[in-house]
Amino acid sequence: MDDFALRELPEAPLARDQLRVRNHWLSVDPYMRGRMNDAKSYTASFQLGQPMTGGAIGEVIESHMDGFAPGDLILHMGGWRDGGVIGLDMSPFKLPADSLAGGMPPQTFLHNMGLTGGTAWIGLLRVAAAKAGDTVFVSAAAGAVGSAVVQIAKAREMIVIGSAGGAEKCAWISELGADAVVDYKAGPVLDGLAAALDSLGKPGIDIYFDNVGGEHLDAAFACANDFARFAICGMIDVYNDGHPQQMHHLIRTIPARIRMEGFIYTDQFFDCMEEFYADMGGLIASGAVTMRETVHHGLEAAPDAFLGLFAGANIGKMLVRL
Ligand code: NDP
Repeated sequence: MDDFALRELPEAPLARDQLRVRNHWLSVDPYMRGRMNDAKSYTASFQLGQPMTGGAIGEVIESHMDGFAPGDLILHMGGWRDGGVIGLDMSPFKLPADSLAGGMPPQTFLHNMGLTGGTAWIGLLRVAAAKAGDTVFVSAAAGAVGSAVVQIAKAREMIVIGSAGGAEKCAWISELGADAVVDYKAGPVLDGLAAALDSLGKPGIDIYFDNVGGEHLDAAFACANDFARFAICGMIDVYNDGHPQQMHHLIRTIPARIRMEGFIYTDQFFDCMEEFYADMGGLIASGAVTMRETVHHGLEAAPDAFLGLFAGANIGKMLVRL
């Protein structure tokens, strides 16, 4: 917690192509942990003394940018701040008026209609090319990405096994429609996954959607059907200490001809944005995809919310409300 500081900054005048924004919602995401490392990655590291950038929903107070007017609700990448000046480099995006008029809460664009829902949709349908009838295993299934994977897969008539820590989370995954659950805190993941497959009368998994790495990934290797596809989305198990991951069943990639692909949401999102909004918007409108939110209040609560991700303190999407 001592690594975070709250700073008051003077209000700057607006230049051309800038907006003054008051934030309402901040996104809190595990990928932010990776940006705290000084290591080569797909995106730049956070800089000491600079604000944490990331997804936020705010209201335009003053606009010097074409296409934006006071009162507009926007998604932007300005991150953890009460508000301030947002330029084009923060990718401001006006929330679609029809979605808002239809009653969609604006913060949905931080989860199911945004980063986490998009990651679930891209990873499952494009990267893993999952199809009806496939048996899908997803880890961190009670989290933001994982719960979207469960529901998209069920809407596409797949058989879903979700893993999460604890009875309350597992009960929620079942409510979302998962056919079987693994409580990884109650015993070895491999035993839980094997028991889930037995209960479903399935020989193995066709798809693994990895949010966790480590023991979950190893269990997925052990239980993979021939030609299984693994969408490697995240490995939260090692974000904090980077301990070596022991794989006992990696060799199964060869006889089972497993295809594994790591992916980054932003590489693909702009290609399929319209299709994603139409499909996900429809799934949300029909009630096939829902979301729980774990909400902390006030900017000063953001570090606590962030640390909570690594302790499993969230069900659904972790957010800060301002
Ligand atoms: P979640 O809402 O899933 O929150 C993180 C969850 O991870 C916690 O609730 C916790 O649930 C679980 N967790 C934490 N530590 C461990 C551990 N050691 N072992 C097993 N589970 C653990 O976060 P998101 O949905 O935002 O992100 C999920 C994953 O997707 C992350 O790995 C993230 O980095 C990745 N991601 C990747 C993107 C990409 O473009 N590739 C984009 C967005 C996210 P529990 O109580 O069940 O342990």
